[in-house]
Amino acid sequence: MRILVTGGAGFIGSHLCERLLGEGHDVICLDNFFTGSKRNIAGLLDHRSFELIRHDVTQPILLEVDRIYNLACPASPIHYQYNPVKTTKTSVMGAINMLGLAKRVRARILQASTSEVYGDPQVHPQTEGYWGNVNPLGVRSCYDEGKRVAETLMMDYHRQNKVDIRIVRIFNTYGPKMAENDGRVVSNFILQALKGEDITVYGQGEQTRSFCFVTDLVEGLARMMSCPDFIGPVNLGNPCETTILEFAQKIIALTGSRSRIVHKPLPADDPKQRQPDISLAKEKLGWEPKIPVEDGLKKTIEYFDGILSLG
Ligand code: NAD
Ligand code: UDP
Repeated sequence: MRILVTGGAGFIGSHLCERLLGEGHDVICLDNFFTGSKRNIAGLLDHRSFELIRHDVTQPILLEVDRIYNLACPASPIHYQYNPVKTTKTSVMGAINMLGLAKRVRARILQASTSEVYGDPQVHPQTEGYWGNVNPLGVRSCYDEGKRVAETLMMDYHRQNKVDIRIVRIFNTYGPKMAENDGRVVSNFILQALKGEDITVYGQGEQTRSFCFVTDLVEGLARMMSCPDFIGPVNLGNPCETTILEFAQKIIALTGSRSRIVHKPLPADDPKQRQPDISLAKEKLGWEPKIPVEDGLKKTIEYFDGILSLG
């Protein structure tokens, strides 16, 4: 098949492109390189089935494709808050443009949605039936509400125009190729530990997250895309929940670092708890994460160690 991956030069997108090429597909990677990088796809550029297009999803584009993975959108809070108006445009205009393309060429389209659609959740763990607790006015709203509108657009194009859609709600994902400057907790803690710098825990570190290794996540995306009769939304994530303080301690132990833990102010609207209920993914896709967090973290630490040694 000919498959379009928007945001294909980003962290998750580049792993997905690699996997799809490995399965023998033709892959078109579309990216504006806001948070993605050529380094992420450097190993793919010479592949005869790989094409790279520098393009912004807020602008329409016509391509002949069979499948679309719509991943284009900055994912880390500091990057999506850098230009919040652009973030909303990317989610909303990007979804409209990609859905318009899917409708025109009759492609199946998968939207990378997020656990942020649940906001600061009052239901724990989060199930797909939960409508969420999102602040529409806060600093995270550009991302949360943009992704919620993208889900609405997916459903409306499906009902109104019979577009073949899939919606996945991705929970915190980590692994090699995360941008080292993206301010997310995994890259921050690992880099701080490797450099012997203070580890910055925001607040008391009692807030929880559940971390999924990127290859597990990509397996879930591929299964959802090929699932014949289930449009979602479906949660994809690792239910293994940890407090951020415990997570910092784990990274110190795994790196053997002498870094100290310091506390910094908790950012506004930081969700207090997050854990996916993945019963639906298990039932409909036969999917669950396989990589234990320690193994995934070791691979990620190795990756960042390599980046640091490049200087
Ligand atoms: P990332 O920032 O590494 O990748 C996003 C990619 O989209 C980058 O390559 C970026 O340059 C590109 N992009 C951004 N705006 C664009 C635009 N207007 N036009 C074209 N390209 C654009 O982030 P990621 O972690 O790989 O996330 C990929 C997708 O998965 C995002 O949609 C994100 O919302 C979603 N997601 C990720 C996580 C996670 O934990 N990583 C969790 C939930 C949802
Ligand atoms: N966090 C932290 N120190 C950091 C970066 C993040 O304590 O240096 C916390 C952050 O406040 C949040 C959690 O780690 O509670 C996950 O943050 P991240 O930005 O990775 O993702 P998100 O908040 O979108 O889940």
